Amino acid sequence: MAFNPDFSGYQVMLPFIEEAKASQIPSKDVLQSIKENSAMSGVFRFMKEEYGVSIDVFLKVIYDAFSHRWKDKTPANKYVSSLKQTYDWCCRNWDLVATSVDSLKSTDLEAIVKEQCLQYLPNNVVFPDLTVYFVFNGCDGRGFKSEIYMDITLCAILGKEKCVSLLAHEYHHSCRANFALRCSNPKWKNAFETLSCLESEGVADKIYNLGGVLPDNDYPPLRQLIKKRKEIYENAPKHLAEVEKGILTDVAPRKTFSEGSNHPLGNYMADLIERRFGRTLLVDCVGDPLKFLKTYNEAAKQEKRDEAGIFVFSKVVIYKLGQIMEDL
Ligand SMILES: [Zn+2]
Repeated sequence: MAFNPDFSGYQVMLPFIEEAKASQIPSKDVLQSIKENSAMSGVFRFMKEEYGVSIDVFLKVIYDAFSHRWKDKTPANKYVSSLKQTYDWCCRNWDLVATSVDSLKSTDLEAIVKEQCLQYLPNNVVFPDLTVYFVFNGCDGRGFKSEIYMDITLCAILGKEKCVSLLAHEYHHSCRANFALRCSNPKWKNAFETLSCLESEGVADKIYNLGGVLPDNDYPPLRQLIKKRKEIYENAPKHLAEVEKGILTDVAPRKTFSEGSNHPLGNYMADLIERRFGRTLLVDCVGDPLKFLKTYNEAAKQEKRDEAGIFVFSKVVIYKLGQIMEDL
C-alpha cells in the first residue's frame, strides 16, 4: 500500500489522557511508551527543532488541559499558548475527537486520497510510499518526504470529508516531489523557491484549501486564518506585484510570503489558469514552477482584455525565468 495510515501515536496517548482526566500522576510506564512510540517521537523531534518545545512541556500542556488545571495561567511562549488552545478544544470536544478517529480508521483513505490527487496530477504519476501519522501535533498537518503528521484535533475540527481532502493536498506534494523540476544553481535559489512555493501550494490548494473553506466545527484560530487568506486572495494583484519585486531582487521566499500568503496567491494563479485554459493545461504546469508563472501570465493577458485589475508579470521577470531555465 502506498498510502499508510498509522494511528499508534493516538492510541499510545489514550492511557495518559485517562490519567489526566482522573488527575492522577502520569505513570512511568505510560510516559515511557509515549516516548518510545515512533509517531510521537517524530512530533517531539520537529517541535523541539522548530519551536524549542520539549517533550515534557508538550505533555504538560495536554495533561493540564485534560485535568482542567491550566486555565488561570498565561503561557509565556506563543506556540505553547496555541497548543493550549488546541487541547482545550480537544478536551471540551473529546467525544467528537474520538468518533472522528474511529471514522477515519474505518475509511479506505488511500482510495479517496489517490482519486482526489489524480484530479491535479498527470495520469502516469507514480504514487510514492507515504505514512500518515495521526497524532497529537498542535492543530497542524505537516508533510515531510515520506511522512505526514496529522493532528487528531484538527481532523475533528475539519470534519471527515475535509480532513481526507487535506490529506490529499499533502499527498499531492509528495507525488509532485517525485518529478518536479529542481534547481541546484545557488544563483537562482531564492527566485526558484519563490516560484515553487506558488506552484506547489497553488495547485495543491485546488484539492483542498485550508485557508479557503470553513471547517465543520468552529475553531477561532482557523476562522482567523481563513479571513486573512481570503483578504490576500481578493487583493492578489497588489500582492503579486510584491512577489515580482521579490523575484527580481532575490528575496528569500519566507520573507516574500509571510504567514503562508503563497497559498492564496498560488491558488489565485492556478484558478485563473484553469478558468482560461482548462485543467489539462494547469496539470501540465505541476512540478514546473517556471511554466506555471508563464502560463498564468498568458491567462492574465487574455483576462486583462475583459477585466481591469489583473496583474501581469513584467517582461523582465519572464526574461529572468528564461535565464533560470537555461541554467538550473
Ligand atoms: Zn501544502
